[in-house]
Amino acid sequence: MDRSKLYRRFRTLLIANRGEIACRVIRTAHAMGLRTVAVYSEADRDAMHVALADEAVLLGPARARDSYLNVERLIEAARKTGAEAVHPGYGFLSENAEFAQACFDAGLIFVGPTAAMMNAMGSKSGSKALMEKAGVPLVPGYHGEAQDDATLAKAAEKVGFPILVKASAGGGGRGMRIVRSADELGPAIVSAKREAKAAFGDDRMLIEKYVDNPRHIEVQIVGDSHGNLLSLFERECTLQRRHQKVIEEAPSPTLNPAQREAVCAAARKAAGAVNYVGAGTIEFVSDGKDVFFIEMNTRLQVEHPVTELITGIDLVEWQLRVAFGEALPLKQDEIRLNGHAVEARVYAENPTKNFMPSVGRISTWRLPAETGGLRIDAGYREGDTVSPHYDAMLAKMIAWAPTRDVAIERLNRGLEESDVRGIVTNIPFLSALMTHPKVRTNAIDTGFIERELAVLTQAAPAPGELELCAAVAAIINEEQRAAGAQANSPWQTFGWQPVGRRQRGFAFRVGHGPEQKIMLNYGSGPSMLVIGERELAFAVAAKEGGFDLTLDGVKSSVAAVVDGHELYLRTRNGRFDLHWVDPFGGESEEQAGADKIAAPLPGTVVAVLAEEGATLEKGAPILTLEVMKMEQTLRAPYAGVLKSIRCKVGDIVQEGVELAVVEAAGE
Ligand code: ADP
Ligand code: ADP
Ligand code: MG
Repeated sequence: MDRSKLYRRFRTLLIANRGEIACRVIRTAHAMGLRTVAVYSEADRDAMHVALADEAVLLGPARARDSYLNVERLIEAARKTGAEAVHPGYGFLSENAEFAQACFDAGLIFVGPTAAMMNAMGSKSGSKALMEKAGVPLVPGYHGEAQDDATLAKAAEKVGFPILVKASAGGGGRGMRIVRSADELGPAIVSAKREAKAAFGDDRMLIEKYVDNPRHIEVQIVGDSHGNLLSLFERECTLQRRHQKVIEEAPSPTLNPAQREAVCAAARKAAGAVNYVGAGTIEFVSDGKDVFFIEMNTRLQVEHPVTELITGIDLVEWQLRVAFGEALPLKQDEIRLNGHAVEARVYAENPTKNFMPSVGRISTWRLPAETGGLRIDAGYREGDTVSPHYDAMLAKMIAWAPTRDVAIERLNRGLEESDVRGIVTNIPFLSALMTHPKVRTNAIDTGFIERELAVLTQAAPAPGELELCAAVAAIINEEQRAAGAQANSPWQTFGWQPVGRRQRGFAFRVGHGPEQKIMLNYGSGPSMLVIGERELAFAVAAKEGGFDLTLDGVKSSVAAVVDGHELYLRTRNGRFDLHWVDPFGGESEEQAGADKIAAPLPGTVVAVLAEEGATLEKGAPILTLEVMKMEQTLRAPYAGVLKSIRCKVGDIVQEGVELAVVEAAGE
């Protein structure tokens, strides 16, 4: 094919995506002098990517199928705005060959490979067949066309359990199930197919030997339309949860230089097999000895910043220059590896509640400045709403340093200095990961997070003296601020009382824990805080985001957010969420009990797994919801009889709605 027709200079770029990657692409496009067009759904009218772009076009309703996945509307948006090229980001239509073809047919440049290359490499099955021919080592398995139960069962038997059932069109760890014995195979295929159909519109499956506790190694490659193909070193993404990357780093701390050269050469061979054009990633799993090809991603990857930080190359700039039809600006031996970079994915999710996505308004969004090797790629700002319709990734935090140890230290400090409120995030969990000794020494595999979950999601320590004093200081600060007192002397107004001392009592608790009491004595003379028998002299100096608290002669910095009766503090001992118990009572305690079988978030019922009248063991599955693209099974909270099911497959249910009732056994 004559590639000169596919790639040429353009001035206006439409970004067919949302969130951080849309913002990321817009930033580089602007730096290159391009005009940018954002697209958005009804849920994203006020989203950050819409604000950043020069123009924006509404695609349709919130549901991805009606907006970000609607090819016709996207092409129409390009036509309306005079966009000449389309950057697909990652996720959504980024690996959809029909979309790439539709762009081409409409006279648009697709920033990425051709539809033909995507067809060859985009499906896991197709790419494995190709790699087999090119002599790239594969995980043993079945990647044929036939999809009937008997064929898949026979293939699984032949490969030998444990195996992995994988959606050929899969991504983001979706549509994938580990199967350890023959009797688990049938249900695993049904559920993987359903998830794959919903997420990718394609439910073809392949079967692979499950490599126990492997590492994930991948190589960044870039090709141009002149036949040049480069590898930009590897990344290691072994810290995963449910086959989804959580932390990524470059270079891999596991490979020695000879292994590095070998895996990069294998990746160039793989991409060379289709004369690849654009940015792409060749993924491998490693059993510690050898590496095996698992898939190619024909797009920019979430974790591309770690490669950018160790090579000094802007991958989006290179993507756009390749789309202009330019030749790659460097030769293989001009690409140098400098230092080490680590990335953490910041999600709106609750690690202590099985990583349930968290939706709502971001009331506080404080991230550290991008200095000292820290980079932040965000898709949200303070006041933005996280909707249940899309992936829950909010931002990525990336740190660079000359060595791995320092890069990890910098990343951890960046995480510790981040305060995001209004929704629950995985930031403390990421911090726990970054400080885990086995992460520091690289003694990890893809099962590490699952095994260490209890340690990684440990409840915060109980608040001590410092935190109780800080809580009082935060409240007084907030009251002074609200009263319009001078910001630099919030405590002076306490000295005016001419005679005697006055007291004010406070009580705090964490979750449903016990109340902790503290008394503030003020009036003439220095103010004191009293906790039980202890009396503490203290001083407070307000500053941006919090205050310096001097307690018994030691000054320490405290970050504080006061949101009504909820206090959020960060002290040298960690993060603390305190509830200020209202001295005038009226605490309305009761929330939905854990026994209620209710939708945790708005979602769609995708399967009903038990019948009314059935006797259920504790933990027996009742129904499956799809919430934010992930399947979530609701289970019996105790043994009993399923009295009623109040929904059916296909129902869209609101948060908190009771979906089934189980009557406890023996009642
Ligand atoms: P996705 O398209 O969802 O990224 P991948 O095929 O890349 O799917 O697999 C995702 C993750 O699942 C990998 O990073 C790896 O941790 C794990 N995985 C994939 N294939 C295997 C395998 N054969 N054995 C063990 N783990 C695997
Ligand atoms: P990567 O290595 O880039 O993570 P994956 O194959 O794991 O590649 O997944 C692609 C990425 O696309 C995922 O990380 C996921 O967060 C993102 N993604 C998938 N679906 C959506 C969506 N609906 N909205 C935004 N991002 C999405
Ligand atoms: Mg993958």
